[in-house]
Amino acid sequence: MAFEAVKENLEKRGYTVKVFATGAEAAAYLNSEIDGVTVGIGGSGTVKNIGAYELLSEHNTVYWHWITEPNEARKNAMNTDVYLTSVNALAESGEMVNIDGAGNRVASTLFGHKKVYFVIGRNKLVKTYEDAVWRARNIAGPGRAKQMNRKTPCAVKADRCYDCSSPERICRGMVTLWEPMLGQSAEVILIDEDHGL
Ligand code: SF4
Repeated sequence: MAFEAVKENLEKRGYTVKVFATGAEAAAYLNSEIDGVTVGIGGSGTVKNIGAYELLSEHNTVYWHWITEPNEARKNAMNTDVYLTSVNALAESGEMVNIDGAGNRVASTLFGHKKVYFVIGRNKLVKTYEDAVWRARNIAGPGRAKQMNRKTPCAVKADRCYDCSSPERICRGMVTLWEPMLGQSAEVILIDEDHGL
């Protein structure tokens, strides 16, 4: 996968960008960069896949609601030095799009941390911003609803978003990031493998 264009566009927007051939290499890099601090992790199959939690927990205080009691972990993860997440879609032009249900993940990409790492597999990369919104809504949303066994039309039919009114709807808000938020350092880790939904 050619990351040159998206890397250049992300850097123009103010992000630091690193490219890795594998998730293991990305995890080793994060493990060397993040030491002796508090770390929060958002709901992310990508971060899970690369084994970052296990590595970082050995020498940092890490809060992740996928591992421990969810409400407590979500609250603790809101105030950490560092935050790790992925995105639902990344446009080649540099916009990142995330949909959330509880809101903790998108909130943490906006405020509350000294540094946010966005860990992104090649499968999340699309051409335009409109493609990114479409991917977030019609690929990532239904995929996650199915994974969570939600009773939503997208999870049953597994084809697209129905903009449902189901009480089990997981898509409660969508955030587009144009640039790193003021006062927050942000780094994008691109991985030349498929990871996450
Ligand atoms: S809005 Fe409803 S139908 Fe659409 S992806 Fe989310 S849960 Fe599925």
